[in-house]
Amino acid sequence: MISFTQDLVKINSVYNNETKVCKLIKKKLTKYGIESKLVGEDKNRLNLIAKIEGTSHKKSLMFNGHTDTVAVGDVSKWKYDPFSGKFVNGKIYGRGSHDMKSGVAAIVFAAIGLVESKIKLNGDLILAFTSDEESGAHTGVKYLIKKTIKPNACIIAEPESKKMVIGNRGIYRFEITTKGRTAHTGKVDKEGINAVTKMAKVLLALGKIKPHYVKHKMFPPPKITPGTFVQGGVAINIVPDTCSALVDCRLSYGQTKKSIVADINKQLKKLKKKDRELSIKIRETAYSPPVIINKNEKIVKISSKNIKLIYGFKPKLIVSGAATDGNFLTAAGISTVVFGPEGNNAHSENEFVIANSIPKVSKVYALSAIDFLSVKK
Ligand SMILES: [Zn+2]
Repeated sequence: MISFTQDLVKINSVYNNETKVCKLIKKKLTKYGIESKLVGEDKNRLNLIAKIEGTSHKKSLMFNGHTDTVAVGDVSKWKYDPFSGKFVNGKIYGRGSHDMKSGVAAIVFAAIGLVESKIKLNGDLILAFTSDEESGAHTGVKYLIKKTIKPNACIIAEPESKKMVIGNRGIYRFEITTKGRTAHTGKVDKEGINAVTKMAKVLLALGKIKPHYVKHKMFPPPKITPGTFVQGGVAINIVPDTCSALVDCRLSYGQTKKSIVADINKQLKKLKKKDRELSIKIRETAYSPPVIINKNEKIVKISSKNIKLIYGFKPKLIVSGAATDGNFLTAAGISTVVFGPEGNNAHSENEFVIANSIPKVSKVYALSAIDFLSVKK
């Protein structure tokens, strides 16, 4: 499991190249007699699906892991090459080691363990290795849902140890553009309208929005981060006539697309009243609603029980502030929980996974498949 995780980390799959990762997984599964299929619409960003058929097809459980990673950032801040998969003091370092190629390895070996043990599951176990989780799931889970892969429940091997995720905040993302009027910065007879300073006003105003939501003891409150990416201006001596910015909104319980759009529009209307020159355009880029499943669902109870069995404690059930493929799966009616190997520094430098947590979590997955699908006696 450790060397397989290292091999996965060695493949650079920063927002691309997931097909390469899938091919390595496919090779491993084939070696143990598990058939799998590459599916998708973008040849570099394919998904890998395997189905271990049960003695009946009445129930199905999916294990899911994404094969893309985020960028490495400033390489000089890494202790080791981010694509080396270096093993030091019980830790595997590298981009994607924690988020989430170790989780992918744990899934692969849980499946291999089940097949090797010759246990006859009374339902189908689906393995889904998906692309594009880090930037919207377009070629990944969204594609699979469109292609009607619909198991009863799903375990995602994202890095969340000690806790188990049963819900996620939602997302509303948009691009906002301000329009101005260009002019020579040195001319005195013709004034321009500076689209960048207009944008500054807009972003500050967006940051002050207090969105409508319903307080829920498990959900973090909503959060708006304006200007995660800003572009405007062409040269030092030209008044910029256009500026665009990205805005990321995290949605809490009770928020909908309609409610967040209304909150945004209300704030911008106020701003336009004070500044008649303000010209704004908004383009939605992503939306997924906040989701949570019932803590009495079978998949929650079974997973908790098996975590207790292997780790010695029951996991705390939480709602994650961040989104995962679980947002789309739960919204599509698939009861999804998230837990995976232990580690740290996902999305920042010196990401690592604690190696011996990979077999531990792999055991939990295998035992949960046995409990969920049951074994034909
Ligand atoms: Zn992830």
